[in-house]
Amino acid sequence: MTPPPVPGAAVTQFAVLDALLAGAYESGLRVAEARSIGDFGLGCVNHLGGEVVILDGEAIECTLDGPPLAMDDDDILPFAIVCRFPEVPRVGLGEQDFAGFAASVEDALTSRNLFHAVRFDGVLSEVRVRVTPRQHHPFPRLAEVTSHQVETVARDIRGTVVGFWTPAIYQGIAVAGLHLHFLSEDRSIGGHVLDLAAHSGDLHLAAFARFDLAPAHRRAVPPHRTHPRRRPSHRRSRGRCSGIRQGTVLTPNPVRGPARISSVVSRNRSSRYVREASPSGRAGRSQPRRARRPTSSPCRR
Ligand SMILES: [Zn+2]
Repeated sequence: MTPPPVPGAAVTQFAVLDALLAGAYESGLRVAEARSIGDFGLGCVNHLGGEVVILDGEAIECTLDGPPLAMDDDDILPFAIVCRFPEVPRVGLGEQDFAGFAASVEDALTSRNLFHAVRFDGVLSEVRVRVTPRQHHPFPRLAEVTSHQVETVARDIRGTVVGFWTPAIYQGIAVAGLHLHFLSEDRSIGGHVLDLAAHSGDLHLAAFARFDLAPAHRRAVPPHRTHPRRRPSHRRSRGRCSGIRQGTVLTPNPVRGPARISSVVSRNRSSRYVREASPSGRAGRSQPRRARRPTSSPCRR
């Protein structure tokens, strides 16, 4: 069982899930504010343009523009849940599918009435993550957005699963049960976890007796963040050669010329990462495809 909660420590959430489901994808808190409150958590990018992992004090965005990238302090999070992860004993995990992983988490809960931060560091036999495309006014509901989400599958990949287990009574405010995001150790892939199978690694669970909720409030978005973020050219170049990409959005390199899908696929094979084949049978996708959710997934959004 996970140790009792650290006195005074809290899980803090900004915005409520139902607002996000209804289309509240802009305004929120600055990344700097989230990082001042916690060093661990998850969220989504402004205009729902990707998924966010907050790990060891760093906020990383997983978007369709390229590999996961550290966010700026002025970037906006329309939804985020964060905490300061305390020292807790590890629980060693072996081969487990998603249902087994969820059962391992629930076995280790301090109480089903408390919020728990969930961290798994290790190797995943398989992980399926999704990233949502950036939305424009008028915002559709999240259910419609996720019908166009881009999913990527990686196998035999080392990384960290970041998330929370939330008591059932909070559904609607938060995601009841498990809500997990993933970031690979080499930062080639990340996103909202739809399915996973653990190979081996360490599970850490931290219980929190306090839940602080900060409902969404309108906040002016800095002018330089009203348009999709432009990546520095050196990051675009690095991303083009780093293997796994979200979907097949390849950014031409102004020096080396246009990216080639074949080189990425080849790299994936050598790295033992496998992008899920498209319905046509080709590795990789040039267009987002309809979402397929595993029935065993405890994630609700
Ligand atoms: Zn998520």
